[in-house]
Amino acid sequence: MKQRLLTPGPTPVPEETLLEFARPMIFHRTAEFRVLLAEVLADLQTIFCTKNLIIPLTASGTGALEAALANSVPAGAKIICLIAGRFGERWKNIAKAFNIESINVTVPYGQAVQPDQLAKALADHPDAIAVCSTLSETSTGVGHDIAAFGKLIAKTPALHIVDAISGLGAMECRTDEWQIDINCTGSQKALMMPPGLAFLSVSDKAWQAIDKNANPRTFYFDLKKAKKNLETSDTPYTPAHTMIRAMRVSLKKILAEGIENVWARQKRYAEAARAGFQALGLELFPAQPNTALTVVKMPAGIDSTTLLTKLEKQYGLKLANGQDTLKGKIIRLAHMGYIDQFDILAALGGVELVLLEMGHRIEPGAGLSAAQRVFAKA
Ligand SMILES: *Cc1c(COP(=O)(O)O)cnc(C)c1O
Repeated sequence: MKQRLLTPGPTPVPEETLLEFARPMIFHRTAEFRVLLAEVLADLQTIFCTKNLIIPLTASGTGALEAALANSVPAGAKIICLIAGRFGERWKNIAKAFNIESINVTVPYGQAVQPDQLAKALADHPDAIAVCSTLSETSTGVGHDIAAFGKLIAKTPALHIVDAISGLGAMECRTDEWQIDINCTGSQKALMMPPGLAFLSVSDKAWQAIDKNANPRTFYFDLKKAKKNLETSDTPYTPAHTMIRAMRVSLKKILAEGIENVWARQKRYAEAARAGFQALGLELFPAQPNTALTVVKMPAGIDSTTLLTKLEKQYGLKLANGQDTLKGKIIRLAHMGYIDQFDILAALGGVELVLLEMGHRIEPGAGLSAAQRVFAKA
């Protein structure tokens, strides 16, 4: 049976990228690798829409989040965390681990934090060093208006720090135009790579805060040291250089299409997935959905754990469940990265078959037909 991985990380990796991993090992302190790293970081700048320096880390995405806070926020200082789900909560938990006070602006799962909520928090806490938000809240499928956040934050001394781990490359994200000071991502979501690399872009405003912070509470993730090393396209410690070598291939694929075209395609995928699920009577879970993944509620009497197990066992379709309190209640279909319209149709077709098997009354083909209509008008 053909397996289809449609989870919000890890995501499928293109065959030509996978083949890079079969090539012989190279040494990393060489001109050859320095050229490669510089090229990959330049390509990432295009994808991030930034002129800022991008720092590579050997870590999963969370490593970039931790590096952002550990380097730029001193112990005892205050930040504002915008929380709309599990990944927003992660900001708060990292702050706690580093003895940073977090002011939490929290909305119920499925809702998005609104710019006026941020405006109020900034007015109430003019001493906040940073605002931490999430572009795509992968746990609920919500997308945030990072451009609006950026406008508000830029008027204050606070840094604008964004978790764009599942959003970057799957939805519009303009780092410089949206005044994002530290933009964090990981390799295994929309960038068509296995897990293991994290990246963050750092603005001049952020470098000022980092330089001022005499005591970064990290050794491995010291961004000042990383910046110094990047002057010669080097890294302080052994980089995951075979990952970087493979990533070059995935990034060229994105650049060949053009990042704006990728965003437009992602929008079409999300539209088709939403239309398909809605035609089956499944409601969208997020009030303000993003285009990286589509998250829907289960109809009465259908447990998503049962549905997802059947999808995987019977049809090789791997979608994601809700986490924590949302487990059993929602399904998450990721359509970021190396995914095409036929993967989305396969997922919808599988969901139709399983719903019918579970006794839910739907018209076979109703979801597929709604999605096809979206693809047909493109
Ligand atoms: C996947 C994801 C993370 C976690 O990244 P890891 O690579 O597991 O450390 C954080 N934030 C968001 C929004 C994500 O989608």
